Amino acid sequence: MLGITFISLCVTLALGRRVVDLTHTFDQNAPKYPLEQWVDKGLDWNMFRMTTLMAKYIGPQNRTWLTLKVTEYYEHQGTHMDAPMHSARGGEDMASISPERLVGPGIVIDVTDKAESDVNYAVTVEDLKKYEADHGRIPPGAIIMMNSGWARKYPDSNKVFGSQNLSDPLSFRFPGFSLEACKFMLNKRQVSVVGVDTPSVDPGIAPEYYCHNHLQPSGVPLLEYVANLDAIPVRGSTIVLGAIKMREGTGGPTRIFALLDDENDGFINGANSVSSRGAIGLLSLSTLYVLCQAVYF
Ligand SMILES: [Zn+2]
Repeated sequence: MLGITFISLCVTLALGRRVVDLTHTFDQNAPKYPLEQWVDKGLDWNMFRMTTLMAKYIGPQNRTWLTLKVTEYYEHQGTHMDAPMHSARGGEDMASISPERLVGPGIVIDVTDKAESDVNYAVTVEDLKKYEADHGRIPPGAIIMMNSGWARKYPDSNKVFGSQNLSDPLSFRFPGFSLEACKFMLNKRQVSVVGVDTPSVDPGIAPEYYCHNHLQPSGVPLLEYVANLDAIPVRGSTIVLGAIKMREGTGGPTRIFALLDDENDGFINGANSVSSRGAIGLLSLSTLYVLCQAVYF
């Protein structure tokens, strides 16, 4: 019943709107946080295996083509979501995140210029208040994402982590949110989800994962390596998160869509936005496919 309601909501959201994909393509080159020093050395940390189980014609007359693969990957690789349990003991797993959290108004905090002159830039409360002065108050239940221009560096790990020594987390240099901004978004604006176009919501230079530690115990999922934020307006979109509904999953690949009303069209300048009316049905179908997968997987 919940699934049916959710899908009806998605149909309503998808029909008659343009869709922008905020997801990097997932493959073996998708960067991941180098945590080798903290995990079991017996594990193959660099695993990304795609094994073909079957690729052949089958059936009585060999007329049905089937391909099946088994894929092994790290949960927090490429464009993905951190479930609250990732950094909050007893927090929700990927399967337990409520669908209401996975759909919400999109807010883009653009700090591209600041990040260009300061790779350690951390979004401040002042940035959020300046945003509100220019574009209106951030509504409750928003999906707030930082655009630092970092998506252009993807998937070069040395560039996205701002380091030539990926085995040393203290050398990482990339932008994120400040602790005060996280507190403001959570306590004053009841944010649903916080996202970044960088490897972590916490800036690379941060000695502790204070944003993770502050937001996730309150049930806030995080998005990392969000793509294409230049292609949507800073407000006015509806974000739909097709996050894998994996029991005990601490995170997972997430297809992120921004749905735009026609009135937003004037704001769009990205090359990856889809403007053809003919493509809408197809993209709505892909949205639904991902959402159905999220609901029923
Ligand atoms: Zn993560």
